[in-house]
Amino acid sequence: MNLFVEIFYLAAAVLFILGLKQMASPVTARRGIVWAGVGMVLATLITFVHPSVNSNYLLIFIGIAVGGGIAWKTGKAVAMTDMPQMIALYNGMGGGAAAAIAAVELIKQHEMDPTVQLLAVFGALIGSVAFSGSLIAFGKLQGIKQLRGAFRFHNQQRINAGLFIVVAWMGLGIATSGTDYGMFTLFLFFALALAFGVMMTLPIGGADMPVVISLYNAFTGLAVGFEGYVLDNPAMMIAGIVVGSAGTLLTQLMAKAMNRPITNVLFSNFGETMGEAQEVSGSMKAIESPDAAIMMAFAEKVIIIPGYGMAVAQAQHKIWEMTKQLQERGVTVKFAIHPVAGRMPGHMNVLLAEAGVPYDIIYDLDEINEEFKTADVALVIGANDVVNPIARTDPNSPIYGMPILNADYAKNVIVVKRGQGAGFSGIENHLFFADNCRMLYGDGQAVASELIANMKEL
Ligand code: NAP
Repeated sequence: MNLFVEIFYLAAAVLFILGLKQMASPVTARRGIVWAGVGMVLATLITFVHPSVNSNYLLIFIGIAVGGGIAWKTGKAVAMTDMPQMIALYNGMGGGAAAAIAAVELIKQHEMDPTVQLLAVFGALIGSVAFSGSLIAFGKLQGIKQLRGAFRFHNQQRINAGLFIVVAWMGLGIATSGTDYGMFTLFLFFALALAFGVMMTLPIGGADMPVVISLYNAFTGLAVGFEGYVLDNPAMMIAGIVVGSAGTLLTQLMAKAMNRPITNVLFSNFGETMGEAQEVSGSMKAIESPDAAIMMAFAEKVIIIPGYGMAVAQAQHKIWEMTKQLQERGVTVKFAIHPVAGRMPGHMNVLLAEAGVPYDIIYDLDEINEEFKTADVALVIGANDVVNPIARTDPNSPIYGMPILNADYAKNVIVVKRGQGAGFSGIENHLFFADNCRMLYGDGQAVASELIANMKEL
């Protein structure tokens, strides 16, 4: 490879790493996305003058135009709440592309360094699993009827383990037999690897899909990294390693924030090992919007806890407008963000940033949890599981041990939600029955508009 191409690949790799670094904070995240995107454009363009790419330019252009066009259109149209399934789909494509590279190289049956051949097969296996598994994950999150729920049957884990052993054994055979493997074996290996991805994902319920997608994201990164070795392409290696390690860390973080080991996500259904749930006592008490507005307008400190329902209602702009009104009245307003509020990591931060909420009033769980004791009102909007105190007390609860926001420690709690709908975990929330809690029923955005109007009248 000539020096010119190498220098540009290095520049692209540096942009990937710096971009990812900037994504760690909401203040710089947008810039990080742009930097990583520029890196990707650079890596793609420079590949056109790569010495090994000397034909098929038209085909490459058509591929980029079709893929890029579809991604541009769907990326612009997708609703914020549908983002996890879009990520699943795009991630699956990455895994599929890595597997396709491996397939092309292995079909050629040319002499390869034994280590490179082993990496090609590894990448093929992981990429195929990420591809077919991500497609099933997409279907589950999209609510496709036939895929909803967890498909389970007798001895499923044993059958899956058996399938994995067969695929791994075939892969090892291909990797260690030089050019002596047959085409039928190769095709069967790919078919079984794809089947394994499907079989591994089917038993996992839709509720656990975000963690699974993050895991497949890590797989895709690894597969791309391995195929980078096969093609001797440093940009692919670095991009793959960066995605692989970021995906692994994210998977661990999500599992930790939900207090569930990753093996529990993959091999047991959400909540299935639980016993009798703790009885809930008390009753839910409703409050009307004018009373809630008075309570907040005359408070000293209000902490707002947004959750998935705020994303569904797209209420972030109205909530920010309401916050500004409260601030004008001298009320201290802070936002408390749970690490798994919403349906993907950083979901709430993205929404609040979109609405223009300044970062210095947005706090993570660890930073704000002590402050609830001194808050006059905790306003819970569209959040449920992340404020459920049962996570502290009931070992039989599927969310037991999950760190929660201490909304119940505030003097008053107002919960905005449409009705009796459960949260992601499907369990009753004991906070809603507490003496200091009032339910303000309605769609998040409509309620926020009413609160603004009521406050203006005060
Ligand atoms: P949640 O537990 O899913 O609860 C959302 C609540 O919003 C529901 O109770 C629903 O009640 C309400 N809601 C829905 N639409 C609404 C609307 N238009 N207006 C007002 N309220 C509305 O949400 P969460 O507290 O954010 O918790 C997140 C959950 O997702 C956790 O269990 C977490 O473990 C899980 N999870 C998160 C991630 C992640 O990365 N963030 C990944 C995997 C899993 P009504 O139907 O009555 O309105």
